[in-house]
Amino acid sequence: KRMSEDFSSCLRDIPDFPSPGIIFKDISPLLANPQKFTAVIEAMAKLVKDKEIDYLLGIDSRGFIFAAALAQKLNLGMVMARKPGKLPGDVVSQSYELEYGTATLEIQTDAFKAGDRVLIIDDVLATGGTARAAGDLVEKMGAQTAGFAFFVELEFLNGKQVLDSSSVTSLVKF
Ligand code: IMP
Repeated sequence: KRMSEDFSSCLRDIPDFPSPGIIFKDISPLLANPQKFTAVIEAMAKLVKDKEIDYLLGIDSRGFIFAAALAQKLNLGMVMARKPGKLPGDVVSQSYELEYGTATLEIQTDAFKAGDRVLIIDDVLATGGTARAAGDLVEKMGAQTAGFAFFVELEFLNGKQVLDSSSVTSLVKF
């Protein structure tokens, strides 16, 4: 039995998406393969099993896929960090810089209690701006960031440096 599985075959490179010069890592092959997807969720669960966590926070929208599956595996509740205007009721917002322009994430105001430990989940860590904004939101709400877990990390973009690097885990690194 192999100690670790190579999940890079579950991804495909799409050149010039979403804009020229960018090679997009497409996770669709992973989702289409039930054995691989199950193995990925099990491996991600192992990466975070020693952390003290009250909630998983999934980032809109591919982060939801991983966070929901992990929430079931870890028997934890899940919260959604959504793009603006999608969540009903009172929300807390955090805007962040993109290469061109800004983006915003929102969480429902009553999602966490003070001091709750929140593990932030997304499919891909690129520059780290999105995950950083999610962490800032968690802290704005009086909760704590327990760490960050990703399926894929694009190490050459140094996203870890924008996060608290000691608490960042990922399964596949490029
Ligand atoms: P960042 O803010 O630059 O770290 O970008 C991360 C966000 O963009 C995440 O929500 C990812 O889902 C998405 N993203 C960036 N690059 C890729 C990619 O190559 N494949 C899939 N998603 C990506």
